[in-house]
Amino acid sequence: MAPVRNACIIFNEIPLGYPEPGKTVVYDSSQTIDPDTVRVLSIDPYMRGRMRDPSITSYTPAFDLGKPLDNFGVGLVVRSENPSVKVGQHLYGFYAFQEYSVFKDLSELRRARVLENREDLPWSVYVGVCGMPGQTAFYAWNEFAIVHGHSPLGQDDVVFVTAGAGPVGSTVIQLAKQAGCKVIASAGSEEKIAFLKSIGTDVAFNYKTEKTLDILQREGPINIYWDNVGGESLEAALDAAAPHARFIMCGMITSYNTADDYPVKNLSQIFAKSLTLYGFTVSPLHDKYSDRFYNEVPQMVKEGKIKFTEDVSRGLESTGEAILDVQKGRNKGKKVILVAEK
Ligand code: NAP
Repeated sequence: MAPVRNACIIFNEIPLGYPEPGKTVVYDSSQTIDPDTVRVLSIDPYMRGRMRDPSITSYTPAFDLGKPLDNFGVGLVVRSENPSVKVGQHLYGFYAFQEYSVFKDLSELRRARVLENREDLPWSVYVGVCGMPGQTAFYAWNEFAIVHGHSPLGQDDVVFVTAGAGPVGSTVIQLAKQAGCKVIASAGSEEKIAFLKSIGTDVAFNYKTEKTLDILQREGPINIYWDNVGGESLEAALDAAAPHARFIMCGMITSYNTADDYPVKNLSQIFAKSLTLYGFTVSPLHDKYSDRFYNEVPQMVKEGKIKFTEDVSRGLESTGEAILDVQKGRNKGKKVILVAEK
């Protein structure tokens, strides 16, 4: 195949606060490649943490300045010299933010997986509820909520979920409802609150217009807190926790764009109430749960037992704005970049 244009999104400058489209990341259409089309790329909150000085160590590597961003995506195979991958198949894995990629070995895609998609779902779903965010919810819910040594969850258990309308939060809510729990969830707009209600959330509220602590004191105490945001929500959850409550610490987006973490003032509740905090990242749980995940979750999505919302941006050029939207909460569902339509 003749060389074709291979536009990409370059990590250009380390941001001090929120990432700035056109400055933090820039669109470069000057590259060519002898082509795997990338069809869809995922925009995830943790990408902000990768926009840092590489000397600062963390659980994920820093983006390389001057090189394309990379993250989870789904690619269409247009050429293959590997017998285990055929032209026309869809491949899930880690892709550079460029139109085409060449891989010497499947291990370069990290969690490479040929997607069979027997459920005939949109490919974008495989970077959302059927991809890394869904895995985060499914793995950690099973690991820390349905955990050995605890009695089965039921209607006496109250679960609180923050950033409830995103792909992680909304999957957790639906797993908690399947387990029979009462679910309280927060999100930042009325449109998101309507979605939370539509997936069975018992108490859905806008944390920007109502005080989290007031809601939790009225509807709690809470037995499980799924923390996606940290900050004042965490503080309220500590105050409203039942004795022996479990906190599943998934993310803290309130601190991703600031120099310092919010100083939580009531950490003494942890010992006073005998609370257990489980911090985790999704990758180490992958080997334990991924087969179950791919067997169960796409089927639940197809049957409508797990519902989702997506917020699709078209074209690589939209990446800078899409990254900022997720950090600011302007995304209306799982944020994806549709790179190629076919
Ligand atoms: P998402 O919900 O699609 O997007 C992030 C949401 O966070 C925004 O839409 C916004 O929703 C909310 N938010 C932003 N700033 C906020 C603030 N200052 N206070 C409160 N909420 C704020 O994201 P997601 O992909 O489902 O991820 C949710 C969380 O899980 C993130 O913290 C992410 O880092 C974490 N995560 C962790 C792992 C892991 O391995 N531990 C893996 C994946 C994701 P509102 O409109 O509701 O404010």
